[in-house]
Amino acid sequence: MPDIHAKRRERLQAVVASLGADAALITSLVNVRYLTGLASSNAAFLIPADGPGVLATDARYALAAVRDCPDLELAVNRLVAPALAGLAADRGLARLAFEAHEVTVEGHAALVAATPGATFIPLGRAVEELRVVKDEDEIALLAQACAITSAAFNDVLPHIGPGLTERDLAAALERAMSDRGAEKPAFDTIVASGPNGSIPHHVPTSRALSRGDLVTVDFGARYGGYHADMTRTVAVGEPAAWQREIYALVAAAQWAGVEAATPGADVADVDGAARDLIEEAGHGEHFTHGLGHGVGLEIHEAPIMGYDKTGRLADRVPITVEPGIYLPGQGGVRIEDTLVVRAGAGTAVPRELLTTTTRELLAL
Ligand code: ZN
Ligand code: ZN
Repeated sequence: MPDIHAKRRERLQAVVASLGADAALITSLVNVRYLTGLASSNAAFLIPADGPGVLATDARYALAAVRDCPDLELAVNRLVAPALAGLAADRGLARLAFEAHEVTVEGHAALVAATPGATFIPLGRAVEELRVVKDEDEIALLAQACAITSAAFNDVLPHIGPGLTERDLAAALERAMSDRGAEKPAFDTIVASGPNGSIPHHVPTSRALSRGDLVTVDFGARYGGYHADMTRTVAVGEPAAWQREIYALVAAAQWAGVEAATPGADVADVDGAARDLIEEAGHGEHFTHGLGHGVGLEIHEAPIMGYDKTGRLADRVPITVEPGIYLPGQGGVRIEDTLVVRAGAGTAVPRELLTTTTRELLAL
């Protein structure tokens, strides 16, 4: 993998040079991982506009850094960011680009104190922007995370029925993902049954499932640092007419969103492809969030898709498409898949669905 990380660093160096900076100080842990391969809870990376970079981490991660990043100079220091800023000053790198969105006021004061005479300029979200388009190795890790997620859902399906609590169902899904090789859940598992289904991010309770419920589960596996995200809504017992109706509407809207997610598509138009169907059916006010988001080293990352968002999709961008309808006091439906937008020259389907569980309404 070092080759991949070196290529990513080269792309960032072009940005650093274009800003007129001598170097960039990367303090977002996810961005440090993206550029170096080191997963650490305390790390920073100094990348000059030209020449090799310096990775800083503390003694707990020093051996991992030597193992995972053999091509990088290593500074072992608990105060990673001030240590690298001081090193930059020593080496005459006086104009430092930094991640203003990731540095606290206190952290900024420590950087300034460590580098008398240095000039700090904002790097912006340059690394986040590089991360939007994934390389094939990243897509392979994400695909595995999604395969684990889909398989775990199938493992747990036979156990869903009256009497099982929301918390027990969440635990069963997380157990199944772990058994299938997940590092950990990609985020806190959501299980929302009956009236709780009207709360999009309901926290699982001791409520037992009962006949007549719709049950929404939103969960995913993390694998190799990459986050899967899938939502399915199932019925306990025979679904009522109103339940079938909103399910069919959400399923149609979700597929319209999936079909609209092509390279070059405006994110607001992708959102609109799904939202228009829900609004035309009179449920616009019951779809209370954006259509989806990018996934990768973070569970929510660029691009964010909503009617008020800007930007265009591109080849090799993984996203989720997840419309929902939430009826206060009654229940809700959400259907979510993770997919990769593909250029698709010569293919009928310019996208790749990574979560493969059926989208039919299951009555359990
Ligand atoms: Zn989700
Ligand atoms: Zn999501």
